[in-house]
Amino acid sequence: MLVNIEVNNKSITVKKGETILSALQAQGIKIPSLCSMKNFTPTGACRMCVVEIEGKDELVTSCSQPVEEWMKIKTHSPRVVQARKSIVELLLSNHPDDCLYCVRNGNCELQDLAAELDVRERRIIGKKNKYRLDHSSPSIVRDPAKCILCSRCVRVCGETQSVHALEFINRGNQTLIGTAFNKDLNFSSCILCGQCILVCPTAALHERDSLPELKEALNNPSREVVVQVDPSVSITLAEEFGLKPGKDIYGVLVSALRKMGFSKVFDTSAGADMVAMELTSELIQAREHASALPLFASACPAWVKYAEQFWPDLLGQLSRIKSPQQLLGRLIKSPELAGFNHHTSDVFAVAIGPCTARKFEAQREEMTIKGISDIDLVLTTRELAKLIRLYGIDMENTEPGLADIPYSAKCSSGKLFALAGGLTEALVRTLHHKLTGKELPGVKIPELRGLKGRKEYQLNIGRVSYSFVAVSGLNNTRILIEEMQAGKSSWDFVEIMACPQGCINGGGQPVRAEEGALKARMKVLHEQDEKEMTRQAHKNPLVNELYDRLDTQPGGKVSGELFCTRFGRRVVLV
Ligand code: SF4
Repeated sequence: MLVNIEVNNKSITVKKGETILSALQAQGIKIPSLCSMKNFTPTGACRMCVVEIEGKDELVTSCSQPVEEWMKIKTHSPRVVQARKSIVELLLSNHPDDCLYCVRNGNCELQDLAAELDVRERRIIGKKNKYRLDHSSPSIVRDPAKCILCSRCVRVCGETQSVHALEFINRGNQTLIGTAFNKDLNFSSCILCGQCILVCPTAALHERDSLPELKEALNNPSREVVVQVDPSVSITLAEEFGLKPGKDIYGVLVSALRKMGFSKVFDTSAGADMVAMELTSELIQAREHASALPLFASACPAWVKYAEQFWPDLLGQLSRIKSPQQLLGRLIKSPELAGFNHHTSDVFAVAIGPCTARKFEAQREEMTIKGISDIDLVLTTRELAKLIRLYGIDMENTEPGLADIPYSAKCSSGKLFALAGGLTEALVRTLHHKLTGKELPGVKIPELRGLKGRKEYQLNIGRVSYSFVAVSGLNNTRILIEEMQAGKSSWDFVEIMACPQGCINGGGQPVRAEEGALKARMKVLHEQDEKEMTRQAHKNPLVNELYDRLDTQPGGKVSGELFCTRFGRRVVLV
């Protein structure tokens, strides 16, 4: 049902029941807000979205006020603008004065609003907070002094992820956002997915900076710095340089990385194809012992940490296969399999990915063999953009290049791992071939695509059927697990990606992405899959060559030693 309202002296028709904010945003009328998020309950915490409504004495927060027939609204009257300006001035009154040095300089919502509202002097002098920077975690840094208490992180951590690592602490002017008992993040239940970073309007939350260590390695002549790039990075990196979402700059990125001194550039999707092969074998074996079902994927390190903390009873059902990043790291570090001559101790293996949790994953003790880590350092997409700027690479005038042999992308199946449901799609393609000797008709699996947080699929081969469910977001995961434990659903295979929509929306991706950006990122990966000649892991010539060289089969002893890991119960403060 529609209602008519008047906005800035112009009549418009909007949907009944909508809030003023969402109704006007849908009409292209911009109202600032530092706390609202699409699909979340409004809190009105920041009050930036106030508007003037004829007949009301007070300004009202547009995020919480529903539209009413013939409401007369002023979105930018002098009174409204002054109120917003005062809020920004108050927020800045105790905010650190280090914009020039800040990690979000140029990409900060508070800074943008101060500029838009023409805040040019400090009129209000507040008492500066002396909070300690929390860099205890290998993935995420918390800077409470830059927190404006918008509560977006609290809501994402609780409502989307069901983790509740961040909460409000204290009351009144002592209020802050922190972890249980206000301890360091590393002791908390944080699963390091970085979804809080994506919604933080300032630099109160950001990834741990790995660039200093990387620069040192690149400048060390005795180190051979090798890099692998996740397929979800080349399709989002362009956004960091102001281009429209959905542009893949893979070839240019490969050349840029070489210019910066990386000796080899590999593609993480090669590791993903190996994961699909190993998982297929693991799933077939699990089916032989019904008690081992469902088999849970373990490619997402934030989900693994969540399971270790909150669902330790499920760990026995977690796939033992390493994630694509770690598996490829192990191949690169194995002189006989790397495809280039090296001494393992000289190789510095870098992984560039969409993810903050992978920084944690890379330093897990279980990801080492004889004290040698599979991966030495992980960069996010955002850090990669900084590195490119730091090295002065002109991306527009860089000719595209090809990734290095042997771990270049020769197949589109591994690229699908970047999408929620994509790992399952890749797995089903190979499983179908393994069970029937024939390719899956149509190749593409529409049931496993799209923006839904839960996707289901059943593979029927004669009388045999395999059931799959793919969920993204850990609240969806919690609901699914509780449902399974109550006996309301059962599955052969469960894919879980901590980030809603998967790695294309990972915690290391460009901040401030809208739903349209996610759709564009998804579309480009699907288009690449459509165009690719080789779309199944088992048809990737590299994969078959590797198994030949290892003289093993997927699930064999040798591949088990190289590609498998273990997980264990993790005690944290909740
Ligand atoms: Fe990292 Fe992807 Fe998992 Fe997000 S979904 S935590 S980006 S692996």
